[in-house]
Amino acid sequence: MIETLAKLQPLILIGLLATMYSLELFIPYLAKPADKRKHDLHNFGVSFISFAVNGPLSGLVVYMLMFTAQHQLGLFNQVGLPVLAEIILGILLIDFGSYCFHNLQHKVPLLWRFHRVHHSDPNLNTSSVLRFHPVDVALSQCIFQVIWIPLMGISMTSFVIYGGVALPLLVLQHANVCFPEWVEKYGRFIFSTPGWHKIHHSDEQHYTDSHYGDVFTFWDRIFGTHHKVSPEQISYGLKEFKAQKHHTIKGQLWMPFENGPVAATGNNKGNAS
Ligand SMILES: [Zn+2]
Repeated sequence: MIETLAKLQPLILIGLLATMYSLELFIPYLAKPADKRKHDLHNFGVSFISFAVNGPLSGLVVYMLMFTAQHQLGLFNQVGLPVLAEIILGILLIDFGSYCFHNLQHKVPLLWRFHRVHHSDPNLNTSSVLRFHPVDVALSQCIFQVIWIPLMGISMTSFVIYGGVALPLLVLQHANVCFPEWVEKYGRFIFSTPGWHKIHHSDEQHYTDSHYGDVFTFWDRIFGTHHKVSPEQISYGLKEFKAQKHHTIKGQLWMPFENGPVAATGNNKGNAS
């Protein structure tokens, strides 16, 4: 069953991307970009480059998971919990590790330089989902996934189930689609819903440095990194990177080397635009 879910994940993801991309045309939540076609093409271009460059690293993550299980390494393999408890705790620990690493991406200047490419999009939509600098993805896979997941001894089952929830949720979070009200009203008690995550894309620093959770909202609630603000009142992107030249494929790939803010937190007096 887990093997089937793993095989179906790419298809589910492509289907959801196509569905959300189509829905944006008919029931948009926010105003569309002035030149949507150009905006989306540049984002998809960077996404494709990141995906192509980091494909082999995904294989390394899977290899590390298998190696850990085979040699009984990592925390869970030492403790010996009941299977169901291990699966659930594994899912929670992946999300907690991701929350911690996402904090670092905002606070460590070198990590922020690459992560800010994702944040700089002033027009969030489905094309923003995979708009990550290739180095941002590589650092996330090398520092977080290749180290944290095997260290905890997280099983392939937890990893595949987590991916099955996190990846579709990532698409919904960024899609410029008007979802039914109940999604926000009830969903955000547990999940990082589209409205909850969009606050993380505000161009106001104290909002950018909040709502870090990928799947669950517990971590942001526990550590006080969340705000009450309507996504409709937000201006998106980064103030230092509003100019159009930063949003082409070349502009996005070059952005980490521009004189923007050295870290999301604190110094925000860049002059890149
Ligand atoms: Zn972020």
